[in-house]
Amino acid sequence: MTDRATLAQPASSLKGVGPALTEKLARLGIETVSDFLFHLPHRYQDRTQVTAIAHLTSGREAVIEGTVTASELVKGRRQSLLVRLKDPTGIVSLRFFHFSQAQLKQFERGTHVRCFGEARAGSTGLEFYHPEYRVLTSNAAAPVEETLTPIYPTTEGLPQTKLRALMQQALEAFEHDPDTLPELLGDALRARFSLPTLHDALALIHRPPPEVSLDQLIDGTHPMVSRLALEEMLAHQLSLRQIRQRIQRDSAPRLHSGAGLEARFLAGLPFALTGAQQRVLNEIHQDLAHGAPMLRLVQGDVGSGKTVVAAMAMLSAVANGYQAALMAPTELLAEQHYQTLSNWLTPLGLEVGWLAGKLKGKARLDVKEGFANGRVQIAVGTHALFQDDVQFKRLGLAVIDEQHRFGVHQRLALREKGEAEGVTPHQLIMTATPIPRTLAMSAYADLDVSVIDELPPGRTPVRTVAMPNERRDEVIERIREACLEGRQAYWVCTLIEDSDALQSEAAQSTHIRLQDALPDLTIGLVHGRMKAAEKATVMQAFKAGELDLLVATTVIEVGVDVPNASLMIIENPERLGLAQLHQLRGRVGRGSTQSFCVLLYHPPLSNQGKARLGVMRDTNDGFKIAEQDLALRGPGEVLGTRQTGLVDLKVADLTRDKGLLPTVRACAEALEQDDARQSALINRWVGRGADRYGQV
Ligand code: ADP
Ligand code: MG
Repeated sequence: MTDRATLAQPASSLKGVGPALTEKLARLGIETVSDFLFHLPHRYQDRTQVTAIAHLTSGREAVIEGTVTASELVKGRRQSLLVRLKDPTGIVSLRFFHFSQAQLKQFERGTHVRCFGEARAGSTGLEFYHPEYRVLTSNAAAPVEETLTPIYPTTEGLPQTKLRALMQQALEAFEHDPDTLPELLGDALRARFSLPTLHDALALIHRPPPEVSLDQLIDGTHPMVSRLALEEMLAHQLSLRQIRQRIQRDSAPRLHSGAGLEARFLAGLPFALTGAQQRVLNEIHQDLAHGAPMLRLVQGDVGSGKTVVAAMAMLSAVANGYQAALMAPTELLAEQHYQTLSNWLTPLGLEVGWLAGKLKGKARLDVKEGFANGRVQIAVGTHALFQDDVQFKRLGLAVIDEQHRFGVHQRLALREKGEAEGVTPHQLIMTATPIPRTLAMSAYADLDVSVIDELPPGRTPVRTVAMPNERRDEVIERIREACLEGRQAYWVCTLIEDSDALQSEAAQSTHIRLQDALPDLTIGLVHGRMKAAEKATVMQAFKAGELDLLVATTVIEVGVDVPNASLMIIENPERLGLAQLHQLRGRVGRGSTQSFCVLLYHPPLSNQGKARLGVMRDTNDGFKIAEQDLALRGPGEVLGTRQTGLVDLKVADLTRDKGLLPTVRACAEALEQDDARQSALINRWVGRGADRYGQV
C-alpha cells in the first residue's frame, strides 16, 4: 500500500500541501498533480559539475569546492563575513551580509565546503554573495547533481525549493504510473513529423541531462519544448474548430441579398464601393444565403470603409424580415456608429436604436421594447446589447466592430440571443488591427477571414514626424496655422497607467494650457470620465466644424470619423503600442488634403521606443505595422488576448512558434475523425479554461 499521489488527483493530495499552498499553486495554474508537469522551468542551473576556481567567469553560476583558508568579519558600510576558499587552481571569497553565530564558527580554517552561486567581481576579486553551500564532512568525493536544476516560475510565498520538492513528488507520480498521462499524438503523426513522445519531452524538460543545449531549452526552440508547444497549439486549434463546427450545425436564416433596399442605400451614398469592399461583400452575401451561421472576420486597415460593408450586410437581414445588431467596444464608438447608421438608414424608412450601459430610465425601456417587438430593425450599442435582459424579436445578424477587444465568449453570448427563435444569428466581426495571416489562422481558427485590402480613392497617406518635447512650441504654432486655414486637429494625451482618471486629468490640464497658448482657436475636450452625452455633444461639435482643436484621451482611438481633421499630435507616443498608434493616426488622413501626424515624445527614448516611432514614420501600412508590433511585443499584447482570454498559452508562443502552424494544421486535419483524442487534447490543454470559450 502506497500513499503516493496519482496524476489525476488534486495538488492537495501531495505531501505538505495544505489549503494555503493549494491557493498559491492555483495562482500558478496548478490544480492537479499533472498540472505540475506542464508548469515548465523558465531557466536552469548547472550543478552537474564542479568548476575549478581558476575557470570561474564573472556573472556565471557555478559549483565550486575548496578549503577555507581564512574567515573574518569585515567592517565597512555594512559588516560582512568574508570567507576565503581555495582549491588547487585558485582562491575566491564567499561574502555574507546576514549570518548567524553558527555560520561564523562553521567556516573554520581547513573546513571543506562546496558551494553554488554566481561569481561576481568584488573588492577581493571574484566573490560569491550568499551562495548556497554545504560543509563536506568526509574526504570522499560528494556526488554532484546528475541533471540540470530547473528553476520554475513561482509566486509570492512559495519558495523555489518548496516548489521543486513538490515537482519532485509529481514527477515520481508520473514515473511510477506514466500511463495516466497518455500520449495523444499517436505513432502515425509522430512518425510523420518526427516528433518525440510526450514522456520524453516532459522528462527532458524537467530533468535535462548535462549535455543538453541550455540556450535552446530556455528560449524554447529545443525540439522537446516545440513538441509540447505543438500539442498545446493543436489543442487550441481543435477547440476553436469544434466551436465552429457546433455553431455551424445550427441553422441560420437564409438571407438573400435584399437588392431593392441595398440599391436605394447605395444610390444615396456620395461614393461608390471600392473593389475590395465589393469583393468582401460578395463573400458575406454567399455566407448569409447559406443557411448555416456565418462566422466571418473582416480585416481592413483603419479607414478602409468597414462600416459601409457592415451596413450593407445589415440591410440583407432587414430585407428578409430580420433584425441586425452592431456591437462596438466603447460607448463613444457605438454612438458614432449610431449616428452614421441613422443618417444612412432612416431616410430608407428604417428604425435604428441605440443601447449602452449609460442609457437609463424610460429611454432604455423604450429601446429594449423596440428590440423585443421588432420595431427597431437595426440595433447599435456596446456589450449592453447582449445582456440577459435584452431580447430581440428576430435577430438575424450580429456585427461586432473591433473584434480584438471582445473575447470568444462574448461573441458566443450573441448566439444565444437568436436562439429563442430557434435560429442562430450570423456573425460578422470587423477589426482594424490587421492580424498577420499566420496568426489569424491560429487565433481565429473558428472564423473565415476576408480582407479589405484597398483604401477608398483620393486618400493621401499621412505624413508622420517624431519630435522631442522641446519643440512643443513649434508644434503649437503649426496647429495655429493649420486651424486658421480651416483645418481641424486632434491633440491626444496618453499616460502609462491604464487609468481613466489620470488620463482624464492629463487631458484636462493640457486643454487648459492649450487654451492659453491658442486663444484664437476654439478648443474642445473629450475624455473617458465624461458622461456619454457630454462626449457625444463635443464630438458632434467637432464633426460639425465648430471646434478647431480637440484635446482627447485615447478614447478616440477607434472609429471616430471627421474627414476635415488633418493634423494629429500624439503626446508621449512612446507609451503606446504600434497598433494603438496606428489606430489613432487613422483618425486623420480621411479627406483629400495632406494630413500630418506629430509624435511628440519625451527624450530619452529606449531602443524599442526608437524602433517603434521609426516604424510609424516609415509606413502607413497596417499589416506591416502589425507584423512589427508582433515582433516587438508578442501576440498576447497585440491581440489583447491577456484581457479577453482568447488564447491563454502555457508553453507555446505564437511568434516564436509560428513555424509550427502548418504542422498544427496538418495534425488537426489528421485528427478530424478522432473525437476521443480531440477531447483528450482539449481537456489537457484548454481543459478547465474551456468555459472561457463558452459551453457550446
Ligand atoms: P473603418 O474601416 O476604419 O471603420 P469607416 O467605415 O469609418 O472606416 O470609413 C472611413 C471613411 O471612409 C468614412 O468617412 C466613410 O464614409 C468613407 N468611405 C467608406 N467607403 C468609401 C468609398 N468606397 N469611397 C469613399 N469613401 C468611403
Ligand atoms: Mg470603424
